[in-house]
Amino acid sequence: MKIQSIRGMNDLLPEQSATWQYLERAIADVLGRYAYREIRFPVLEQTELFKRAVGEVTDIVEKEMYSFDDRNGDSLSLRPEGTAGCVRACTENGLLHNQTQRLWYTGPMFRHERPQKGRLRQFHQVGVEAFGLVGPDIDAELLVLTARLWKTLKIENAVSLQINSLGTSADRANYRSALVEYLSARQEQLDEDSQRRLSSNPMRILDSKNADTQALLNDAPSLEDFIDEESKKHFKQLCSMLDAAGVNYQINPRLVRGLDYYSKTVFEWVTTHLGAQGTVCAGGRYDGLVEQLGGKPCPGVGFAMGVERLVLLLDELGVVPDSVGQIVDVYLVAVGDVDTQALVLGEELRSNCPTIRLQTNCGGGSFKSQIKKADKSAASIALILGEDEAANKKIGVKFLREDRPQETVDQAELANYLTTIITTY
Ligand code: ATP
Ligand code: MG
Repeated sequence: MKIQSIRGMNDLLPEQSATWQYLERAIADVLGRYAYREIRFPVLEQTELFKRAVGEVTDIVEKEMYSFDDRNGDSLSLRPEGTAGCVRACTENGLLHNQTQRLWYTGPMFRHERPQKGRLRQFHQVGVEAFGLVGPDIDAELLVLTARLWKTLKIENAVSLQINSLGTSADRANYRSALVEYLSARQEQLDEDSQRRLSSNPMRILDSKNADTQALLNDAPSLEDFIDEESKKHFKQLCSMLDAAGVNYQINPRLVRGLDYYSKTVFEWVTTHLGAQGTVCAGGRYDGLVEQLGGKPCPGVGFAMGVERLVLLLDELGVVPDSVGQIVDVYLVAVGDVDTQALVLGEELRSNCPTIRLQTNCGGGSFKSQIKKADKSAASIALILGEDEAANKKIGVKFLREDRPQETVDQAELANYLTTIITTY
């Protein structure tokens, strides 16, 4: 019997990897323009880290983590998200003491959820975190940065921004009590999931998809009324900064996010193009988290983007440039007993024309079959090296994508010749 992959854990095949690389480069480029630096930390951490950071009663910790005892009997978990590990790494390495940090990371995350379109068990995020900054200016920076990324990717018309403020954790505790009081009196009108959440994580009821539950919430106490003056001011300033920067947003008073650690600003970038899994980027402020994980108090704000969902969106909208799938510029056809000469010539060209992507035909074959392969490679030029050419130190140049007669060039001139031709494409 063949061994299969694990459900919800996908292979990334070469056909798709070009789009991933295109997306990852665009993200790294935008982040670089805002002077964010990359940090890398392990995919495995102590289970306790996620319990403390994400929260004991969240869906993630209650039922989605891949946890196991290692050979020493320590409970470890595959990371379900990046912020916890990032904060752990920063605290442990003294990156948060008397300084600010603007950081990003990327890599696989693991959650035991029901796999479906845009929802996997191993999925990938790009996370961005800023530490040591309390004001709304950095919240705004993160949002203008993402807005710029959407523009770069040409998906700015397909995503929209929702924001909300959660106030302080004390505000939320007060609100939680009021909400529970209101909903407990109407418990039988709640959907099943929400009934369960009423005792475990009542705030999550606010983003229930159930229409009756949503209707019930119309008359429920509103979080807005419980938020302290400072948080209100922070939120107002953020809104006016976004206005000034021309970033459109919608205030969604029911946006609460699934993780426990947020305070003040929370936000989501959502799209209507991907069905139910419409959130492509989500985050917020977490001023209490560093301390909660044993560090000296340090404010933080960040977000994570779902790479699979962004790739789906790029494909759906057809906005990946054609050139992204193009991996070969020049195909070297080698007919007859010229394999060694082809190898050496290929190396010379790679040394002298470093921008040209050259594929050398390996494994022989007739002229016709090699030209077929050259054509299939999508190269714009085929170089033809037969035994005659090899003997005379010449090479044939055949233009595969334009109506232009074949030429013969001295091998010594080839690098110059190709450089001129390719730059005019
Ligand atoms: P969702 O609403 O889809 O459950 P979430 O609130 O659990 O998302 P976060 O923990 O905030 O998501 O993660 C940030 C982003 O990572 C999400 O907006 C989404 O794009 C992506 N993401 C989260 N879980 C998955 C998953 N199981 N598969 C693919 N992408 C995911
Ligand atoms: Mg989720």
